[in-house]
Amino acid sequence: MNKKYLMTPGPTPVPEDIRLEMAKPIIHHRTKEYQAIFKEATEGLKKIFKTSNDLFTFTSSGTGAMEASIVNVLSAGDKIIVVRGGKFGERFGDIAKAYGVEVVPIDVEWGTGPDPEIIRDALKKNPGVKAVYTTLCETSTATVFNIKAIGEVVRAIDALFVVDAISGLGADEFENDKWAVDIAVCGSQKGLMIPPGLAFCSVSEKAWKAVETSRLPKFYFNFKKYKKAWLDADTPFTSAITLVIGLKKAIERINAQGIDSVIAEHGSQARAFREACKAIGLTVFSKSPSSGVTGVNTPAGMNADDLIKLLKTEFGVTFAPGQEHLKGKIFRCAHMGGIDREHTIEAIKALEMALSKSGHKFTIGAGVVAAEKIL
Ligand SMILES: *Cc1c(COP(=O)(O)O)cnc(C)c1O
Repeated sequence: MNKKYLMTPGPTPVPEDIRLEMAKPIIHHRTKEYQAIFKEATEGLKKIFKTSNDLFTFTSSGTGAMEASIVNVLSAGDKIIVVRGGKFGERFGDIAKAYGVEVVPIDVEWGTGPDPEIIRDALKKNPGVKAVYTTLCETSTATVFNIKAIGEVVRAIDALFVVDAISGLGADEFENDKWAVDIAVCGSQKGLMIPPGLAFCSVSEKAWKAVETSRLPKFYFNFKKYKKAWLDADTPFTSAITLVIGLKKAIERINAQGIDSVIAEHGSQARAFREACKAIGLTVFSKSPSSGVTGVNTPAGMNADDLIKLLKTEFGVTFAPGQEHLKGKIFRCAHMGGIDREHTIEAIKALEMALSKSGHKFTIGAGVVAAEKIL
């Protein structure tokens, strides 16, 4: 049986030591034993967020934490700015609209990040905006946004700064506190290399003030319930015990290496993959490529989804397709979480073979050579 390489930007492969940890017999969550695990996982995760703010864990996919970042700090009729440069920016807008929040969209071309000056202008034109919602890595376009620069614009005014770091955390540079992020959201199945099912929110002092005046309906995702439970290192509802046990192990791994070193490693894998693509005659889609995922344009006349299918069925390598108008035009290869150098080199080898089989002309092996020079 051939090995399988899961190269998608969520879920990402779960390393063996983490899987084995999660295979141990389940324990009860209202116990000292579990609370110590949950506490250690949370404290360790704060180092990865680079925050000393509160950090809550929900049993949900990442979108649950996105919803939490809206319902806990806003009221119906509030106005927010949402940066939309891909599917996930759009999702923030969609959730807000579902709750009767007025959305001022800042639409940026897919594959590019927003110019912070545009956000400054929008804030000037829309006094009273309650919050700015944006994305660290817009996974759908494999693009990293300049959160630091946007943070400098937002911190000058009274609005909250909310960042979807679901796929960016652990791969792209991120500084929750230094960049004045009020709420950052994350999910478990991307850079944190555990299965889907957990979502996280960091909450600043400034965000807590907004919690006090927020009137949107909320129950499961109510921050106040999580804050109260956290006094006993507990969760208000049954914890996803097994996933939290896996999370603790994953975080130990990341912090043992050091988050900056982990980010540098994913960055070099991403660079290696981009150089490999160029060496075999492909072009990278994004003008501001993320270290966690790369979007690649397929050669003219070649459907990306056909290439993805060939890679999966014949070579055991799973890439992600393009979304919306990029469907069939790009494929995406992740570099985050449990994806390591071996995965990256194997993916490049398979990509070369699949492209060659599909009739694309290039020097076989050139991609691997280009990647090895970087790795
Ligand atoms: C994956 C992802 C989401 C959605 O997370 P789910 O776990 O699928 O709910 C949101 N934002 C970004 C940037 C993502 O990469």
